[in-house]
Amino acid sequence: MIPQEAFEALRQVVGPEYISQEPEVCRAYTLKDRGFHTSEARLLGRDPVCVVLPGTTEEVQAIVKIANRYKIGYTPASTLWFPQAGPRFDNCLFIDLKRFNTLEIDPINMNATCGSGVIFAQLQAEALKYGLYTMVPGGGSQVGVVPNHLIWSFSPLTYRTGMANRRIMGCEWVLPSGEVVRLGSLASGSDPFWGEGIGPDLRGILRGSIGWFGSLGIVTKMCVRLFPFHNEPLVPTGISPDTYLKFPEHRMKWYNFTCPSKDALVNFMYDLGHAEIAAAATRVPVAWRYIAKAKSKEDFWEVWNKPEGKEAEVTGSHVLRVLLVGYTSEKQLQYEEKVLMAIAEKHGAEHRRTFQGDQSWMQSADSVSMWWLTGAFMSVTGQVDTIDCGIKTGVEFAKLKKKFEPPMMPDYGDQGWFQTNDFGHSGYLEFLNYWDPNDKEEMIHRMDEYYQIAGPKLLIRCGALSFFIQTDSPLSLDGPNYGPNYHKFARKVKDALDPLYNCNPPGILDVIDEVVEKAPWLKEKKDWEGGPDPRAIEGFGV
Ligand SMILES: Cc1cc2nc3c(=O)[nH]c(=O)nc-3n(C[C@H](O)[C@H](O)[C@H](O)COP(=O)(O)OP(=O)(O)OC[C@H]3O[C@@H](n4cnc5c(N)ncnc54)[C@H](O)[C@@H]3O)c2cc1C
Repeated sequence: MIPQEAFEALRQVVGPEYISQEPEVCRAYTLKDRGFHTSEARLLGRDPVCVVLPGTTEEVQAIVKIANRYKIGYTPASTLWFPQAGPRFDNCLFIDLKRFNTLEIDPINMNATCGSGVIFAQLQAEALKYGLYTMVPGGGSQVGVVPNHLIWSFSPLTYRTGMANRRIMGCEWVLPSGEVVRLGSLASGSDPFWGEGIGPDLRGILRGSIGWFGSLGIVTKMCVRLFPFHNEPLVPTGISPDTYLKFPEHRMKWYNFTCPSKDALVNFMYDLGHAEIAAAATRVPVAWRYIAKAKSKEDFWEVWNKPEGKEAEVTGSHVLRVLLVGYTSEKQLQYEEKVLMAIAEKHGAEHRRTFQGDQSWMQSADSVSMWWLTGAFMSVTGQVDTIDCGIKTGVEFAKLKKKFEPPMMPDYGDQGWFQTNDFGHSGYLEFLNYWDPNDKEEMIHRMDEYYQIAGPKLLIRCGALSFFIQTDSPLSLDGPNYGPNYHKFARKVKDALDPLYNCNPPGILDVIDEVVEKAPWLKEKKDWEGGPDPRAIEGFGV
């Protein structure tokens, strides 16, 4: 429970309609049974004791100040698609931001100002009406624009649209103290068109490489960049669940190429970047092709579960998918196609027919299909790094994973999903894994070891900076190895801005260390010093 006095104060802020302590209402916000199945969700997940839905920045400020006065821990959340948007400590005050649902497009300056409850499907639908677009995260368009820009924001379309830290323009940020700071030109006016100025540019603190997952204040409003697209409609086609956006083929097209080797595929990617063509270039895991063809889960397993010849098929498959968009005209597409085919010829890549529509990247929400195979899914690394580092890490993970099959679904040596970002200036690797959440306990513990100990140690050996650092890895292990000692700098920022440590505890810095402490099967494998900061786990609102 939170103190009755605090509850009354919160009720006065938001009104009786937007606050509840009813167990049934709180249960809807639980982390424990939300379907994530990770060690964090299983070991730390629980129900909040109070849920509050503010509607204005002033209300958020007032809530944060009340939480500070009574030392109540709170968790902010927008669309709840990640475990850190779940209660992981006792007496959690849950701040649901879905009422921040305003969306304003500025077609002249090519940006959109979103409240934290706005999702990508809404933003993309409105942007397309103006001949503009943005990337939609691989996880699907059902997730919030603001939280996604605050933490990750990657997809094949980042090849052209670039990284999220450069797509964030103005921003309104309620600090853990309850004060508001406005970034970019919002600091000096109401037009958020200019991310770098005139006001303070704190985007490095706000998110840097990855963000704070709600443990360094609450962003109530953010202006994000949009990019020129074309004006042709992407027609919704098909009958649910087999729906897709049909491409206007004179303005956008997928091209699949079978490359003779992995080296040829990688060099193909480099050349695309040098030529500055295309909207996306990605190599997808072979299992995804089987998923796309399967009519049902049983259908998938029927073919995937036949190991004979699979390893050779998977490791010998080098299919590159390239998306071309005639942004300015049909002629642009024709020109880029000519360049693309010349590059393909140079690398001996064979052009294959492919489906001309989109179910994933433009506006759709197919991330739930990730759970479909086994009932649980999580990547063990995702990284934006040099292309070569991504390739090397994928090779090493393919070897490591074999030792963890089972419990992981076999993928016959697949070396991961990789693509290029920023016109080939950086690479991207994501290494995906599926397991059965109803497996025997010892198998679930093996799975935990893979994510929380073996995987993080391999990343250190590869010199790879995963963007799941801290959502998967203990900071006490990573901190000394990256930077080195980046944890000291991160801790200083947290101490300065959230000295009470009540902003989404245990916070992104301490959460996996707490998991290791609470899981004897992980703790016995721990061979390094350090653990969670006691301030992050000491209990709040008691
Ligand atoms: C299967 C799957 C695949 C995915 N693939 C990708 C991918 O390819 N690319 C990609 O970019 N992402 C991917 N994601 C991440 C996903 O797309 C979400 O953006 C991300 O999980 C955040 O979830 P959310 O938007 O629902 O925000 P929430 O889950 O509501 O919040 C996420 C975090 O941000 C905090 N938070 C929420 N709102 C605010 C706010 N206003 N101010 C401060 N903190 C806040 C929360 O406390 C929480 O810690 C994937 C997720 C899944 C489950």
